[in-house]
Amino acid sequence: MSMKYFDSEMFCMGTNITQRVYGENGEEVSFEVQREMRRLEKLMNFYKTSSEVSLINEVGFEREVKLSKEVFEVIKSAKYFSERTYGAFDVTLAPVIKMWGIFTESPRVPSNKEILKALQCVGYSNLILDDNKRTVRFMKENMKIDLGGIAKGYAADKAVQIYSKNRVKGAFVNLGGNVIVFGEKEDEDEWNIGIQNPLKMRGEILGAVKVKNKSVVTSGSYVRYFEKDNIRYHHIIDPKTGYPADSDLLSVTIISKNSMLCDALSTAVFVLGYEKGINLLTHEFEETSAIFITNDKKVKVTDNIIEDFVLVEESGFDYN
Ligand code: AMP
Ligand code: MG
Repeated sequence: MSMKYFDSEMFCMGTNITQRVYGENGEEVSFEVQREMRRLEKLMNFYKTSSEVSLINEVGFEREVKLSKEVFEVIKSAKYFSERTYGAFDVTLAPVIKMWGIFTESPRVPSNKEILKALQCVGYSNLILDDNKRTVRFMKENMKIDLGGIAKGYAADKAVQIYSKNRVKGAFVNLGGNVIVFGEKEDEDEWNIGIQNPLKMRGEILGAVKVKNKSVVTSGSYVRYFEKDNIRYHHIIDPKTGYPADSDLLSVTIISKNSMLCDALSTAVFVLGYEKGINLLTHEFEETSAIFITNDKKVKVTDNIIEDFVLVEESGFDYN
């Protein structure tokens, strides 16, 4: 017998958010999650002004900025992940990201001079947090922060809290590539999550991974890019150079309980590339799993999910 569920979709935080919530209270809980997403969108400045984040970006060098508990915690996590990825993820990369205009109508290739200048304002160690006063302060002029690399992860974790609080049977939510599965569907607690083939149309998968109560987050150069003079410029920037990361990966998928962690790590590991990326994960984030898709059409997965991953035979990719 199939279980009742409720499907919904919304555009929020610059992306499509789809949900499937199982159980009698599916509809009600879906709407609660939607309201929460709207609230977070306002709070975290997903391309909106007049948020706490835009206030910091305006006056953060001149004075300390007092924050709400929630925004402070997200910024604190963002700095923590910047430290733990040795700056491959850098929450202060905003001046450079902004210059590329990847999210605007008119993206462009900045001059080398502009990039070097913007890079001078980048560096998470110049972001000073005071836990007692709950304030943030920039130590360099023209610094800016961008939570775009982790905010969707934070929102996904919030959705899980809502599912859990309302004791829903099971739920699936996808925030533009940040996937979370919670509880059970039908009478199984394992979900098969498709991994996009980075060289094919949206929706065409290269493989699938079995997960339960986990988040599955992918970063890839195919997700957002523009082309100029036949060169493709994607949206994941290497904080060392200020240019789109010259990665040997087409995409990387990170799997763990914590969606915000997955989000930061997927961006960082994409920047680092396969060797450095798998090193970071296996030595410092043992609890995570990963699926790497390389430029030379190989698929590699961490040892802890070998049993759970299947490749689509006709994908054209080699596996392990
Ligand atoms: P994701 O799609 O999760 O990999 O995040 C990419 C988004 O995070 C970009 O669109 C930028 O807004 C931002 N971003 C890009 N490169 C970095 C980086 N190295 N560190 C932090 N945020 C970044
Ligand atoms: Mg990310």
